[in-house]
Amino acid sequence: MFIFKFFKKKEPKTKSESNKVFYNEKDAIVIYLKCSKCGELFRSYLRKGYDLINDYDNNGFLIIKEYIGAKCPNRIHLHAILDRNYNLIEYTLENGELISKEEWEKGVEK
Ligand SMILES: [Zn+2]
Repeated sequence: MFIFKFFKKKEPKTKSESNKVFYNEKDAIVIYLKCSKCGELFRSYLRKGYDLINDYDNNGFLIIKEYIGAKCPNRIHLHAILDRNYNLIEYTLENGELISKEEWEKGVEK
């Protein structure tokens, strides 16, 4: 099991690692990921208000998702904690890895 943790940086000038992989769009959080077993690429739109779970304890949101690809039986588990402004606080991802939008676009062109 691999656990990746990124902590929100307070300095607004420096983009944290998390900003590269959790894209905050108007109505959704968009993430791109790759199956660590077969390399299949995924794009996931997590709609605000639908896919985000209210986390009253931390005054923010939780994301709990499972992805299963078409190419292999590997199950990818995502668990993420966001603050009220949809900034990523930390996440864990099992059996997969987050990639950038650019990597995803390059991958699907092939
Ligand atoms: Zn796979």
